[in-house]
Amino acid sequence: MKDRFKAVMVRKDADKQTVEDVEIGLNDLMDGDVVVAVSHSTVNYKDGLVLTGRAPVVRKFPMIAGIDLAGTVETSSHPQFKPGDKVILNGYGLSETHFGGYAEYARVKGDWLVPLPQAFTPAEAMAIGTAGYTAMLCVLALEDAGVTPDKGSIVVTGAAGGVGSVAISLLAKLGYQVTASTGRTEEEGYLKGLGATEIIPRTELSGDPRPLAKERWAGGVDSVGSKTLANVIASLRYGGAVAACGLAAGMDLPTSVAPFILRNVSLLGVDSVQMPKPRRLQAWERLARDLDVSKLAAITQTIPLSGVRKVADDILAGRVRGRLVVQI
Ligand code: NDP
Repeated sequence: MKDRFKAVMVRKDADKQTVEDVEIGLNDLMDGDVVVAVSHSTVNYKDGLVLTGRAPVVRKFPMIAGIDLAGTVETSSHPQFKPGDKVILNGYGLSETHFGGYAEYARVKGDWLVPLPQAFTPAEAMAIGTAGYTAMLCVLALEDAGVTPDKGSIVVTGAAGGVGSVAISLLAKLGYQVTASTGRTEEEGYLKGLGATEIIPRTELSGDPRPLAKERWAGGVDSVGSKTLANVIASLRYGGAVAACGLAAGMDLPTSVAPFILRNVSLLGVDSVQMPKPRRLQAWERLARDLDVSKLAAITQTIPLSGVRKVADDILAGRVRGRLVVQI
């Protein structure tokens, strides 16, 4: 183990937030019963919020950023993990209240760790990362709501982003017809390559929503929120459901009760951060089974740890296609 190692630290002094590349030691890490040598992390939308300070995600300063990590256990006093085990971790307050994945080492609670599924390398697991695991949680939520491929097609909003790209790949492999809603219609080739059968411009869903619109989709995976989610709800077929996990267009939801009481539709909230362990394990098992790993290369770009700050504005502006893996 190295005595000193690199980390990306967020500080706040007199209301001004700064982000610095620093060198720290193991003694500087927070409490936990497992030390992980981190090999990969990722840049998600939420990491963009942390690195720019555009939303109050960090609740303890100073904070090591990075809501995801994958790596190898170095030391452990947790009964389920031993040195050499490959592990992944996301959520549980990483980069909010506990030091995150943008560092060469992380000391965390073993209870938070998920064993790396055999189907994936650490880099592939991070190509999936929080965004892809959340996409899987959305698909599980749709399945639980009885949305099967024979019921009709599924709309995926924010289609060219991280959640959207993985959601399309998963749904297509599971046999669903997928409509991809995107602000980047020039990415038609990319989205069809992932399995989308129809591409619509995001403007089709971003106008002022009516209480009820034409019944179009049996289900939806929405990472955009606001008017887009309201339009998806209004366009669901009778008995349909939409899994809502994001707010790329805003936190508001200008909808009405009409689709719920007249079309029996469901709005399914999806949180990845505090998701209990059994569902996490189920999601990763399903990713191992249902995600076409060969699609990950098309979805992913890899950047060094020193590059995370440069991409923070890009991800918030919707300029990043697919997923960004950070090689630690
Ligand atoms: P990305 O930035 O990778 O993807 C978001 C996509 O949304 C963009 O690529 C773009 O897709 C679209 N978009 C961006 N801005 C707008 C806008 N103003 N109006 C309409 N569409 C827009 O982010 P992630 O995939 O990492 O995350 C997506 C969302 O999901 C975020 O809000 C994030 O916070 C949330 N999230 C929530 C989780 C949870 O636990 N609930 C976990 C993970 C993510 P396109 O160009 O195709 O239109």
